[in-house]
Amino acid sequence: MLEKSRYAPLFESVRIGPVTAPNRLYQVPHCTGMGHALPQTLVAMRAMKAEGGWGVVCTEYCSIHPSSDDHPYPFASLWDDGDLGNLAAMADAVHAHGALAGIELWHGGSYVSNLSTRTPSLGVRSAPARTDPVQSQRMDRRDIRELRRWHREAALRARKSGFDIVYVYPSHGYLISEFLSRSLNDRTDEYGGSLENRMRLLRELLDETRGAVGDRCAVAIRFSANGHGDEHLNEDEARDVVATLGHIPDLWDVVIADYDEEMGSSRFVGEGALEDRVAYVRKLTGKPVVCVGRFTSPDSMLGQIKRGVVDLIGAARPSIADPFLPTKVREGRLEDIRECIGCNICYAHDFRGAALRCTQNPTMGEEWRSGWHPERVPVGTGGSVLIVGAGPAGLEAAHILGKRGFQVALADAAEEAGGRVSRESRLPGLAQWARVRDFRLGQINRMPNVALYLDSRMQESDVRAFEADHVLIATGARWRRNGIGRWHARPIATLNPSGVYTPDDVLCGRLPAGDVVIFDDDHYYLGPVIAIKLADEGVRVRYVTTEGRAGAWSQNTQEQERTQRALIEHEIEIEVNVALAAFDQSIATFACVFSGRTHMVSASAVVLVTSREPDETLYRALVGEEAEDGVGELREAGRLARPASVQRIGDCLQPALIATAVYSGHRAARELGGTEQATRRERVLI
Ligand code: ADP
Ligand code: SF4
Repeated sequence: MLEKSRYAPLFESVRIGPVTAPNRLYQVPHCTGMGHALPQTLVAMRAMKAEGGWGVVCTEYCSIHPSSDDHPYPFASLWDDGDLGNLAAMADAVHAHGALAGIELWHGGSYVSNLSTRTPSLGVRSAPARTDPVQSQRMDRRDIRELRRWHREAALRARKSGFDIVYVYPSHGYLISEFLSRSLNDRTDEYGGSLENRMRLLRELLDETRGAVGDRCAVAIRFSANGHGDEHLNEDEARDVVATLGHIPDLWDVVIADYDEEMGSSRFVGEGALEDRVAYVRKLTGKPVVCVGRFTSPDSMLGQIKRGVVDLIGAARPSIADPFLPTKVREGRLEDIRECIGCNICYAHDFRGAALRCTQNPTMGEEWRSGWHPERVPVGTGGSVLIVGAGPAGLEAAHILGKRGFQVALADAAEEAGGRVSRESRLPGLAQWARVRDFRLGQINRMPNVALYLDSRMQESDVRAFEADHVLIATGARWRRNGIGRWHARPIATLNPSGVYTPDDVLCGRLPAGDVVIFDDDHYYLGPVIAIKLADEGVRVRYVTTEGRAGAWSQNTQEQERTQRALIEHEIEIEVNVALAAFDQSIATFACVFSGRTHMVSASAVVLVTSREPDETLYRALVGEEAEDGVGELREAGRLARPASVQRIGDCLQPALIATAVYSGHRAARELGGTEQATRRERVLI
């Protein structure tokens, strides 16, 4: 079947130096928030990618020495033989499914603060760390010799752990790229000055890695094809590096200078956006090339291969959203692909020092802890389930319960399914978020045991009359209209109700006009996105936030700078570190969050993006105010004809991210009937 498939070229093997990738689908190194801290969680997660058909599965950034410690971010480490076991477990687990295992050797240079090891960080010159008020130690020749030794020893350990591909990593601002930088590298010896001198360390590390492990392992380089910005390594110099060193590594894993774009969210960056800047590398080197592009469409992947841009399709996020993407393409089940929506919630959690999670794939990070498999669920105990609310939580629950064999009825008051994702995906830049709905609708539409009822508002009596064995309430949450949120613990005393709007109004098409204030005390995407929508409608918008930057939390999703730029480009007035104190007639009063000093502006309306109230009306009507789990009261009162369980899921339980709602629906659906095992904990024991 595969031979006849137009996607067969994606499943050709590719020789990479001394090893052979079984297909062209390559999980590039990506952070996990697990690293050295959660090794079992990590092994099970990487193994799942290999089981799902990725031909190569790589680690995250793997520190070669204690002078490169990125604490509190959980990086991988190969500091000594004590690290071998954990990494060997990953390589073995990946090999067990026929994939190659890659490892990205890393030294953070001046970028890291070494908060854990308290060793001075090392730099080509003494330079400030990324976040802390510390600087690195300037490296002398002896330090460079030591670094080369550490790198070589780490490569040998990588081989001993069973890895097939060993990376040298001169990009993303880390140590080797400091040497390449004409601004940072002010050395006057053979490592500084000309490009040839600045790339000397890189050449040495490539040669020495090959010398140490090249007999059995492929040597890969992760390199920014368009340099690191003009002041560091301009595009011509980057090409010179590729031309000069092109023949040494067995594989070029190419990235670009702008991390916000390389890692760009779907709000700002499309699929395959790197092509124009990386396409030359393959022609120049003749070596296999891999590059990412948030590819979820096999046609886009095929296009990259056919146009000769790359030999291997790189993926981080698409492999997180669907570890089984390769298997599904191979089997021609394209409609089953859980397409990444480009929200960067995965990256955000690593950035917060927490284990990876995913909006589309609720099993991500739960492979070991909860024993979850992205494609398999336990067979159910039988019976019927009524789910009220077809937002992300209700849709996910219906999908999983349907798969488990329950009789499922999914009812929603709206004329379309999807809840908040349907509404929000109509806002500027958020169209791909509808994939959360579309994937699940696509699945349940093919399940004869799942019925979807739209335009069906359910009251307590309707639920009772339904006589389902189990009831899940997924009625979501509503944005508060009174200003309560992070800043205001109580309603804002003075609010002219006729000019007060919430995101729900905007999402339902009730738009304010004139001079509009957006008060963002939520700090994520919605405030800025609504500001842009209103500006596009010709409204004069003033964006006001209690934080120091627009959409401040989106620094975690790598979107903050682009968000602020977009507001500026839309000529939206931005005021930071202020709270809306009052809105009376046509005057909005703001208070400085530090001094409390107030000032006023004229405004015809305010949009309050503060916090949400869970919509528990139906749940409370069913279970009362005090019920622990809602079951006892219903039974005692004889209000349901048969024993039932009633529980809340999603935003109705806990207003949070879409990822949280999907996860909540997934967990409830897996655990209904008590079939799931308890979650496990990874902990250090003495
Ligand atoms: P979540 O993110 O938790 O899935 P959403 O707010 O996205 O929540 O979705 C909640 C859905 O519940 C909405 O589509 C809404 O129309 C629906 N809903 C709310 N109350 C009722 C009700 N009483 N009967 C049927 N549907 C309801
Ligand atoms: Fe894609 Fe969002 Fe999942 Fe990350 S969290 S893999 S961006 S869907």
